[in-house]
Amino acid sequence: MTAEAADSLDARRARMIAEVEQMARDTAQATDRPVLDARVLAALRKVERHRYMPAARAAQAYENHAQPIGHEQTISQPFIVALMTDLLNLQPDHRVLEVGTGSGYQAAVLAELVRAVYTIEIVEPLGRTAAQALLAAGYWNVHPRIGDGYAGWPEQAPFDAIMVTAAAPYLPQPLVEQLKPGGRLVIPLGERGGAQVLTLVEKDARGKVSQRRVLDVRFVPLTRKPAR
Ligand code: SAH
Repeated sequence: MTAEAADSLDARRARMIAEVEQMARDTAQATDRPVLDARVLAALRKVERHRYMPAARAAQAYENHAQPIGHEQTISQPFIVALMTDLLNLQPDHRVLEVGTGSGYQAAVLAELVRAVYTIEIVEPLGRTAAQALLAAGYWNVHPRIGDGYAGWPEQAPFDAIMVTAAAPYLPQPLVEQLKPGGRLVIPLGERGGAQVLTLVEKDARGKVSQRRVLDVRFVPLTRKPAR
């Protein structure tokens, strides 16, 4: 890549961040987060989103939109990636579980912020492509796996934070169990194709679980059978 091309990508990422910040202000009434954590924005500024998209779509990589990545799945909108990451209150020593690796983009953003990311994808070719992209970008702290993330990753539990990037009709109980006391989980809840609400789940120090509705969203569904 020429220096000029790299410059233009950096300029596009800077514009994308400005749009994400604007959207955070516009949705603040619902989300209660008018200003997102500077560390989260810095991670979005750094991660090369075009690496996680099909080559034919790379030109649109820094638009603040969701995009198709094949197998009827999508890479999430940068604002939603930023908001979900922000809601988890991540710390550098955290170990995080992501359900729905998809393109690997969200995992890369998480990997900029925490010690270790465990990410599960049910569609094998997507999971393999994402794992390759993450490795090529040098994210040694991301541990990808193919499987049904509904059951979480018991061998690596408990997690400081959990992010589910596909919509479920209800909160998967195994994930709640694999969340540490004091931990946070974000998940879009709602029926397939219907209204979904991004929901923040908090487990307090004594293990009591509470939920807050954050924002109306649209995600692909959490499926239960490994698709090939
Ligand atoms: N975080 C992704 C968003 C991908 S869309 C990104 O940054 O690109 C959601 C993904 O969840 C899809 O790839 C879909 O195949 C996957 N998925 C759906 N149900 C799943 C399940 N039960 N376990 C693991 N992944 C699942």
